[in-house]
Amino acid sequence: MNYDRCPNCNKSLNGFLSANLLLQSKVDFINKHLNENKDAYCTSCSKPLLNKIAQHFNK
Ligand SMILES: [Zn+2]
Repeated sequence: MNYDRCPNCNKSLNGFLSANLLLQSKVDFINKHLNENKDAYCTSCSKPLLNKIAQHFNK
């Protein structure tokens, strides 16, 4: 699948300083741990989500 914008945060995926979409395996990882069902996440909006998951594991 190709996206012009991140399906999660709507950030542009084209052009200078654009974000990249995560690998499907990472998208699945986030969806699984946060009970989400998004098609994709980009490098920008995935950071706080991955931090949230990491904090959960550290408890
Ligand atoms: Zn995003």
